Amino acid sequence: MTTTTRTTTPRTTPPRAYQHWIDGAWRQPEDGHYEITNPATEEPVGHAPEGAGAEIDAAVRAARAAQESWAATPPRERAAVLDRVADLLTERGPDLVPLIQAETGATLRVARGMQVPTAAERFRRYARGALEPDTVPLAPQPVQASALAPGGLIGAAAVRRPIGVVGCITSYNFPVVNLAGKAAPALATGNAVVCKPAPQDPLGCLELGPLLQEAGLPDGLYNVVTGSGAGTGEALVAHPDVDMISFTGSTSVGRRIAAAAGRTMKRTLLELGGKGAALVLEDADDRIRAAAVHSVASTWAFHSGQICTAPTRVLVHRSHYDEFVTALSRYAASLTVGDPSDERTVVGPLISAAQRDRVEAGVRAARAEGAEVLAGGARPAPRTGFYVAPTLVVNVGPEMAIAREELFGPVVVALPFEDDDEAVRIANGTRYGLYDYVFSGDAGRAWRLAARLRSGSVGINTVQRHPESPFGGCKDSGVGRDGGSFGLHAYTELQSVVWPS
Ligand code: NAD
Repeated sequence: MTTTTRTTTPRTTPPRAYQHWIDGAWRQPEDGHYEITNPATEEPVGHAPEGAGAEIDAAVRAARAAQESWAATPPRERAAVLDRVADLLTERGPDLVPLIQAETGATLRVARGMQVPTAAERFRRYARGALEPDTVPLAPQPVQASALAPGGLIGAAAVRRPIGVVGCITSYNFPVVNLAGKAAPALATGNAVVCKPAPQDPLGCLELGPLLQEAGLPDGLYNVVTGSGAGTGEALVAHPDVDMISFTGSTSVGRRIAAAAGRTMKRTLLELGGKGAALVLEDADDRIRAAAVHSVASTWAFHSGQICTAPTRVLVHRSHYDEFVTALSRYAASLTVGDPSDERTVVGPLISAAQRDRVEAGVRAARAEGAEVLAGGARPAPRTGFYVAPTLVVNVGPEMAIAREELFGPVVVALPFEDDDEAVRIANGTRYGLYDYVFSGDAGRAWRLAARLRSGSVGINTVQRHPESPFGGCKDSGVGRDGGSFGLHAYTELQSVVWPS
């Protein structure tokens, strides 16, 4: 493992203190600010506003007031606004990258290549989405006369209607992308949004406010209220005039949100944690096994494993196991860890000291249970920043916490299996079910195995996602699906309209 270290230059301007973005204007927070920390340097990036019930209430009122006329705006005009958002994001991307990179700790490759362009793609995709048909015509039905009505030939259509005011609460790993994945389909289908980004890195999401306004989005449709604690999100979930909560984050918070949202009968979309299993079957040839090594290593090389879909458990047929873990540990050792703003860096820091400590504690607990750390395991240089070395853990039993619980860091566990039944049993042996992978020389066999995996998605010989496929979890990984046109369905409710023919 090589490391890159930042040579810090003295700051000349103080970090900016942001305000909430409500009803198309900056609004001074009533409760002051909190600091946003650069995970690589531990220096302040800026100050985010503390938001409480009053600001959430103001944002919800603004959203409610703006939503009806937005829903009545011709889809073509809604599409044009979202298209302009994508244009502006693409144009301003280079200006936004340093801020997003500093607050997330993402490597330059990830910040420049994915944080902003993917958000732009989402607005572009849902600009098209605004134009997708919202009406499903149903065949006329002959209905007999009854005490209710005279009967006859009855016609009907199922029409997708916006849900209304959508509260979007998001996780820290891809702040602007996660938010765009909610705001874009919600706005495309005629909703208004009140966004509560993750406390660690909300500044890019606040920057979207004026950008959406410049693109022509009427005031009140996109609001952002931030806060350092759980209270801001709780106020949004509890608000009686919010119709839906779209949440991305941990299962434990998702569970609390589902319970609280139930009290006011809000619709929910819950995108929660994962503990992805990659199954490497005995029929995987050299080429496929090499692809599997590369894919599993994405848990280290892609945003330091802070990815819900990461294949953090690799289950390898006994016949390939030794060779596979040797290749993986070599791969881990070859990765450059360190300063995310250095082009050579592949593995940057985790978001916070708390997250690093949580990951380290998970590895320590596994060691105490008898697991062996084949790569990583020690805190790497540089000493400043919240770094965890790419870590590979073996001698792991499926019952051990490290094989079942999500760590959300650059840690892979490897387990051998004897046959498909055992592989399926281990893969399904966690409470999560977000994304699994099968690496096999026989795609038909992998397809059949996919049917046995309780997982929202299954990749066959790839970790590449299909942008139009439905995305979401089984079991404790969530409720509902977004992605492609499924994202449009998530933010609409079906209304049946019935008439006599
Ligand atoms: P988190 O659950 O700690 O926080 C997510 C959001 O919820 C934050 O904005 C937070 O402030 C807010 N929040 C916390 N308590 C709340 C409460 N009681 N009521 C309302 N809001 C509350 O998650 P995180 O640490 O930001 O992100 C990591 C988690 O997100 C991991 O579990 C990861 O798997 C998951 N994730 C899932 C997906 C997916 O699509 N399934 C994508 C990215 C991340």
